[in-house]
Amino acid sequence: MSDTIFPKGDLMKGKRGLVMGVANKNSIAWGIAQQLAAQGAEMAFSYQGAVEKRVRPLVESLGGDPFMVEADVTDDASMDACFQALEDKWGKIDFLVHAIAFAGKDELVGSFTENTTREGWSRAMEISAFSFVDAGKRASRLMTDGGSMITLTYLGSERVVPSYNVMGVAKAALEASTRYMARDLGPSNIRVNALSAGPMRTLAMAGISGGKGLMRTGREWSMMKQDTQMEGVAGAALYLLSSLGTSCTGETHHVDCGFHAVAVPSMDDE
Ligand code: NAP
Repeated sequence: MSDTIFPKGDLMKGKRGLVMGVANKNSIAWGIAQQLAAQGAEMAFSYQGAVEKRVRPLVESLGGDPFMVEADVTDDASMDACFQALEDKWGKIDFLVHAIAFAGKDELVGSFTENTTREGWSRAMEISAFSFVDAGKRASRLMTDGGSMITLTYLGSERVVPSYNVMGVAKAALEASTRYMARDLGPSNIRVNALSAGPMRTLAMAGISGGKGLMRTGREWSMMKQDTQMEGVAGAALYLLSSLGTSCTGETHHVDCGFHAVAVPSMDDE
């Protein structure tokens, strides 16, 4: 485990689930996985191609029998194989963590209106929004005793953030999808929520032009004048995925030191 402290306990004891989106030790999905492991969860990890080399040592560091499955969310056959592997090994699952997004570098800069192409729009929507609908549908079929699923989103869905561009539009679709999925799956006692994290230093963040500025503004304009902490995001994920979150569904929960609620960060004569 890393230096960050994740409270230990039994909140996820006996629960099994799939974590999608660990690329390296800085990934939000990895922070969440460490917190879930510290509370007794058993997890499968999906990865894309060559990333396996980086992810395997992390998964091994959790101890136990590492369960890793390849899944490219743009490929139906790959998704079929991933969920078949889960069914073969466990029969049922209890939770899903979806922490996957992608948009081309050329689209994450400058003018949204000028730089968004038909192809780039479709790719961002498919990987960053539809993939949750697809993975959620597949996961729900294995949640025979109810369950909980979360996805990761960002404030660029609700408000304009420079350079976030088509990703902001995809995140808006992701959050709306979360609500529709929550309605469909609620009667099966499956909860569906989105976690809106403040800027964090990850590979995905490095792909956004001006990412450093986003980090700085996220800190300076936030109510707490701090960076968003992995412990906070992972703790909120634990709440939403465990019985602590019972009765909470269809929600977009912000973990960003209060940034999302600020209209004017400061006044010269304050
Ligand atoms: P990250 O470590 O780069 O994780 C992004 C993951 O998406 C990677 O594992 C990546 O795999 C995966 N992915 C992309 N295309 C895929 C595909 N076709 N099939 C399967 N996996 C694919 O960055 P992160 O910041 O932790 O991102 C996780 C989630 O949090 C994203 O939804 C992101 O938008 C969201 N989020 C991030 C922040 C932030 O500031 N970092 C804030 C709020 C929300 P590869 O590396 O193999 O491409």
